[in-house]
Amino acid sequence: MPHRTRLAGHSGGNTMSSFKRLADAGDLTGKTALVRVDFNVPMENGLVTDDTRLRAAIDTVQTLRTQGAKVALLAHFGRPKGERVADMSLAPIAGAFAKVLGSNVSFIADCKGEHVKQAIADLDPAGVILLENTRFYAGEEKGDPELAKEIAALGDIYVNDAFSAAHRKHVSTAVLATLLPAYAGVNMEAELDALDKALGTPERPVLAVVGGAKVSSKIDLLKNLVTQVDSLAIGGGMANTFLAAQGISVGKSLCEHDLAETAREIMQVAKENNCNILLPVDVVVAKDFKAHAENRTCATDEVADDEMILDAGVRTIAQLVAAMGNSKTLVWNGPLGAFELTPFDKATVAAAQAAGIRASDGKLIAVAGGGDTVAALNHAEAADEFTFVSTAGGAFLEWMEGKPLPGVEALKA
Ligand code: AMP
Repeated sequence: MPHRTRLAGHSGGNTMSSFKRLADAGDLTGKTALVRVDFNVPMENGLVTDDTRLRAAIDTVQTLRTQGAKVALLAHFGRPKGERVADMSLAPIAGAFAKVLGSNVSFIADCKGEHVKQAIADLDPAGVILLENTRFYAGEEKGDPELAKEIAALGDIYVNDAFSAAHRKHVSTAVLATLLPAYAGVNMEAELDALDKALGTPERPVLAVVGGAKVSSKIDLLKNLVTQVDSLAIGGGMANTFLAAQGISVGKSLCEHDLAETAREIMQVAKENNCNILLPVDVVVAKDFKAHAENRTCATDEVADDEMILDAGVRTIAQLVAAMGNSKTLVWNGPLGAFELTPFDKATVAAAQAAGIRASDGKLIAVAGGGDTVAALNHAEAADEFTFVSTAGGAFLEWMEGKPLPGVEALKA
C-alpha cells in the first residue's frame, strides 16, 4: 500500500477534529453543565502550590456561565482507590478556584444523590459548585454505568475539559458522555485541534523527534510514528539502543541491549513506510554521569569502553535543525540528552530554540508534550514559541502511540 494512502486513512487513530464543541451547545439558560476538569494540582499542607490547572479551567467555566448555565465541576485528586481519604478531598480546592475565578464556588462532599441535586438547584443562576473527588467512588475508575446514571441525573449536558485524563475510560472522563449531550471544553478543544494539526491531518513533511531515556517505555510510540511521519529523529538515551543494534559500541552508555531486535524491527517498519530515520552522527561523551563532568565530542563509532553518551554533538544538532527546515510540522517528545546536567542540555536547548524560532516565524507547526518534554522546553525557554505544548503526560503519549482515547472518542460528533 502506498505511504500516502495509508496516512490519509489515519490508521494510527489520530484523527480528532470531528468532536462536539461548546459553541455547538447554544443557549444553556437554566441548564446545568457537568464539567470534568483537571484539578489534580500540587498541594502542600492543604494549600495549592501551583494553580496553573485551576486557571486553565476559567475559560470553559466562564463560557458556560455566559451561555446561561450553572456549572457543577467534577474532578479527581490523587489515588484514593474508591475510598474516602480525608487529605484527598477537593474541599480546599473550591476556595483556591474561587480566588482565581473571582467569584463564589460552592463545595459539596459528594458526587451523587438528592442532596447534591438540591445544592445545585440552590445555586444562583450561573452559579458554580465543585463536587467531591470522583475517585472516592469505586465505580469511577471501573466506568460503572450505575454510578454514571446517578451523576448524569445531576445535569443537562456534559463537558470534558480534561484531556490529561482522556486516556481513562472512567465515569467522569468518558461514560457520562454516553448519557448526556457531550462537548469538549475550551482547553480540550484547543488540545484536540493542535494534535490534529500535528498527526491527524498535518501539513507535510512531518518530522517527529523522540528522545528520552529508554526505548522500552516508547516502543508503541515509535512503532506508530514510523507509519505516520516522514522523518523520525531519535535522540537521548534511547538512541544508544538503536546505535548498538547496528553494531556500534556505545561504551557504558545507558542502553537496552535486549531491545536490539525491537530497534531493528522499528527501523525496518520505517523503511517500509518511507520514514527516514535520523540517528546521532556525533555525540558528547563523559566518564561520569554528573553535571560538569569532563567531556568530549566524538563520532558515534568512537565511544570508548569507559565513556557514556550524555548528549548529541554539534553535527547531529545541525542535522536536526536542517530536518526542521525541510519540515512543515514537528511533533516532539523527550529530551535529546541528560538535559538536567549542565552542559549535557546543549542539544535539547539548541533544537528546541531552533524549533521555537521557526514556529514563531510561522514556518513550522511545532507540537510537543509528554513527561519531561515540558520541563526540557521550559529549560530552553522555547515552550511559549511552540504552536502547542501539551501538559497531559500519559494521555499525550497514548495519543502519540495512535491509541484511541476513550474520553475523546466519546466526544466525537
Ligand atoms: P523520558 O521520561 O523517557 O522522556 O526520559 C527523560 C530522561 O532521559 C531525562 O531525565 C534525561 O536526563 C534522560 N536522558 C536523556 N538522554 C540521556 C542519555 N544519553 N543518558 C542518560 N539519560 C538520558
